[in-house]
Amino acid sequence: MENIIRIAVQKSGRLSEDSLSLIKECGIKFYNGTGKLKSTSTNFPIEFLFLRDDDIPGYVSDGVADLGIVGENELVEKDKEVQVLKKLGFSKCRLSLAIPKGEDYPGINYFDGKNIATSYPKILGDYLKSKNIKAEIHEISGSVEIAPSIGLAEGICDIVSSGSTLMMNGLKEVEQIFKSEAVLISNKYLPEEKRAIVDKLLFRMNAVQTGKSNKYVLLNAPNKSLDKIISLIPGMRSPTILPLAQEGWSSVHSVLSEDQFWENIEELRAAGAEGILVVPIEKMVL
Ligand code: ATP
Ligand code: MG
Repeated sequence: MENIIRIAVQKSGRLSEDSLSLIKECGIKFYNGTGKLKSTSTNFPIEFLFLRDDDIPGYVSDGVADLGIVGENELVEKDKEVQVLKKLGFSKCRLSLAIPKGEDYPGINYFDGKNIATSYPKILGDYLKSKNIKAEIHEISGSVEIAPSIGLAEGICDIVSSGSTLMMNGLKEVEQIFKSEAVLISNKYLPEEKRAIVDKLLFRMNAVQTGKSNKYVLLNAPNKSLDKIISLIPGMRSPTILPLAQEGWSSVHSVLSEDQFWENIEELRAAGAEGILVVPIEKMVL
């Protein structure tokens, strides 16, 4: 079928919730009951495949799915030919090397001649090669953290986000080798009709992302400081200024990034701004 696109998302795990909320925030409705492996949207030409994340890069490069949402770690490890359309900003984590807590760590040479357990033999292999380290890579598919304590390996290379799993297993992080977040990937050879639907989806995703990184700010200010305040929160084209019922005061409305807001808050207050409200933006099209 040419007039519908198929997207592969993780069935359940650390990517699925954020992947599905992003799609919902794009105004796309669908049903995903537990155990359902396929679903079609009722208001957008898109069909969902719910899969294990390991399989997503392969399905997209084969063309079984047109799009996929997957972690960069899995994507680079699987080494499939796909196009990365967009970084999505969630499921952020890193791949790190870790060793038992009590060991001295003089530097990456520590790993020369050692055994390292990992589920990411390709990323680790490339990294060690770039550092000229010769180590034995022991591929295991899960519970990598346990390897040193059962004598399977001297070190591990695994996903870390807070580091608490490492700590619980008596390990310490010694090198960060890869940073990852979720990305939207696409098949490289999409026909024109599908490309057009993908562009529509991307347009919506961009509006959601831009909206999230900006805030709608409303504040009251004495008219004499309006020039100063406008220079601090210039907004998209320019702020909206509305007169308050009280003589000599105005309400100023503007859009700015949250960082920009915090950076300017002291100056805004010093300029006489008060009653400042910061409101989330659902979608924003520039
Ligand atoms: P599946 O059953 O689909 O194969 P999985 O067990 O391989 O799932 P998850 O643990 O659900 O994978 O993680 C999926 C992806 O989420 C990882 O490949 C990584 O990109 C990211 N991720 C993993 N751990 C974390 C974490 N602690 N914080 C944020 N993102 C993470
Ligand atoms: Mg997996």
